[in-house]
Amino acid sequence: MKIHEYQAKQIFARYGVPIPAGDVASTPAEARAIAEKIGKRVVVKSQVHVGGRGKAGGIKLASNPDEAEQVASQILGMDIKGLTVEKVLVEEACNIAQEYYLGITLDRAAQKNLLMVSAAGGIDIEEVAESTPEKIARIHIDPAVGLREYQMRQALFSAGIERTAVNGAVKFLKALYKAYLDIDCSLAEINPLVLTGEGTLIAADAKINIDDNALYRHPDLAQFAEEGEDDPIEAEAHRRGLQYVRLGGEIGVIGNGAGLVMGTLDEVKDAGGAPANFLDIGGGAKAEVVANALDLVLSDPNVKGLLFNIFGGITRGDEVARGIIEGAKRVDVKVPIVVRLTGTNAEEGREILKSTDLVPAETMQEAAAKIVELAYR
Ligand code: GDP
Ligand code: MN
Repeated sequence: MKIHEYQAKQIFARYGVPIPAGDVASTPAEARAIAEKIGKRVVVKSQVHVGGRGKAGGIKLASNPDEAEQVASQILGMDIKGLTVEKVLVEEACNIAQEYYLGITLDRAAQKNLLMVSAAGGIDIEEVAESTPEKIARIHIDPAVGLREYQMRQALFSAGIERTAVNGAVKFLKALYKAYLDIDCSLAEINPLVLTGEGTLIAADAKINIDDNALYRHPDLAQFAEEGEDDPIEAEAHRRGLQYVRLGGEIGVIGNGAGLVMGTLDEVKDAGGAPANFLDIGGGAKAEVVANALDLVLSDPNVKGLLFNIFGGITRGDEVARGIIEGAKRVDVKVPIVVRLTGTNAEEGREILKSTDLVPAETMQEAAAKIVELAYR
């Protein structure tokens, strides 16, 4: 789950990370009021779930409340990379001498968290990583030992952070790492960490991604979930407790078990089709779950055909068959459906399906070929 900069800053602040004074506004008048309260030069920042807002014109300085109101009215409602700006963060502008990058993320290949530090902050770290990777100091964190202070210093020194700023930056890294672990982040980033003309350090930007699978441990963070910015069908799937990923093609795919569904996606591709989605209804799925899944997949207007691939284990074939029939009754099915049922009670399931216009298939390959033929006809 992505959260906004102002939310990430609120979290970092709880860990003792210095952030500029400010508040979030949904209207130009609110932005003015915040600027009045701050009483200094402010920066007005669009709150959308993408980086590169500065370049896109979504970050502007304002030297007084009048200007803050004016730039807020320009930024609110703006489209940034397909997202509409609904909120702006108005905060005290900082006097930038240097911009650094601090980040912690999970390196899956190394099975460790990775600390990254760079003196080339302010711009997208992906860009730095691509063109000048030597400018990023990287240190893997042993999960059993944690992030040690000498490692932080090593990273800061080898990244070329000003010597006078190193002690201060260590405090930021400690807080960043603690926050990263406490709230189960997949990414925690401060870019830029600003070294001001006065020689102090402050987090001018903040980014946190939280591992969705750990959200149940953080009910206080659920308030940050903004489904409006996600895919609407994925958001609905989430509400229904279904494991669904939109893929953009025309063949809807439903199966039980993630591996089976991924295999089915490959078969659909091999047969010349483009999968519309991934949907794993899991083991032991009952009629109601299947009906729910069917309804969800068909809510994607691109879907021209649907393939059920069910390997009956705990999920019994007759249950699935009843679910498909029930679901098909609930939604107005206008597309062909191919059903491949095998395993426990598959024969009973196929028997139940005989009375319908669902197309049976014995193997995955046959099922994929049939649905591609029917859908793109
Ligand atoms: P991002 O582009 O979406 O990552 O947004 P950032 O918050 O990182 O801002 C991008 C750039 O805007 C920064 O690297 C700074 O150069 C500039 N910026 C942000 N806040 C301030 C500020 O308070 N004062 C000044 N002068 N520039 C700022
Ligand atoms: Mn940034």
